[in-house]
Amino acid sequence: MSLPVLYMVIPCYNEEEVLPKTSEMFLQELDVLINKEKISPDSKIMFVNDGSKDKTWDIICNLSKANNHFIGISQSRNRGHQNAVLAGLMEAKDKCDITISIDCDGQDDITAMEKMVDEYRGGAEVVYGVRDNRDSDTFFKRFTAQSFYKFMNFMGAEVVYNHADYRLMSSKVLQAFAEYKEVNLFLRGLIPLVGFKSTSVYYTRQERVAGESHYPLSKMIGLSVDGITSLSVKPLQMITSLGIFISVVSFILTVWAFVTQVTGNAVPGWASMTCIVSFLGGIQLISIGVIGTYVGKIYMEVKGRPRYIISDRTDDKE
Ligand code: UDP
Ligand code: MG
Repeated sequence: MSLPVLYMVIPCYNEEEVLPKTSEMFLQELDVLINKEKISPDSKIMFVNDGSKDKTWDIICNLSKANNHFIGISQSRNRGHQNAVLAGLMEAKDKCDITISIDCDGQDDITAMEKMVDEYRGGAEVVYGVRDNRDSDTFFKRFTAQSFYKFMNFMGAEVVYNHADYRLMSSKVLQAFAEYKEVNLFLRGLIPLVGFKSTSVYYTRQERVAGESHYPLSKMIGLSVDGITSLSVKPLQMITSLGIFISVVSFILTVWAFVTQVTGNAVPGWASMTCIVSFLGGIQLISIGVIGTYVGKIYMEVKGRPRYIISDRTDDKE
């Protein structure tokens, strides 16, 4: 078997502080893998600049001039982490045998790539990088992240526990994945749907090498709402169940009202009426909101706009 060509796919958004340090680490790991004859010397490190406003793209261009293992593509504007990873994967899929997507901040243990490549050579087509603990996170981040996975699974969007987007995929999987045209992207929920033989590799997640997280709680909530509404219709089923439950309750209330009326114990009843009306009002608004979210998604899907636009490539500049 000839050595597989590996492309590391690394999204970068305003990472000028981090990139000079982590690019060295990526290169070192690539050299290790090449020297151990696990991957082909034609393997590359591909940075995807996600419309950064700082010097990230200049740094990427300079890296690619200095060493031809480095290449880069640039999105026409900031589209978010998921679309940046997708742009990189789609760019790489015809040029390599395997991709490994990883964040550029050095939090994910880069040396786990060797285990991933070994699993690939052992027959796996998808290898998930899974964090074995969250000691490096603050209590708050750990708590919110864990709630995120539990809530996602409860709502019918199955995701691999403690796996973010550090994963190896073979070009075979990427070719199949390219047929998934959805605009609403939630990669870690979609990849398991593609199938193929998969396995996991465990690693310990570190602190960011520098800079700050771009994933505050608000973005995490956004991502989980996106994931749930893209992968499951359970919220809609829950609305139906709730509707049935409330109908039963209101039927009982009607019987009760009728009985009190007949027995002559009727009370003015303003308070109970107000409670019921406002409760139902709340439920209705939430339900309309959930349905609206799905309708909104259908709207975005129907338009079929491009999911990423590549404005520059490092090799264009030469
Ligand atoms: N990122 C991106 N576009 C964005 C936000 C983030 O490409 O709009 C990249 C970022 O450069 C990093 C990765 O996504 O490589 C993960 O982001 P971050 O480290 O901020 O998130 P966290 O690890 O805290 O969840
Ligand atoms: Mg990070």
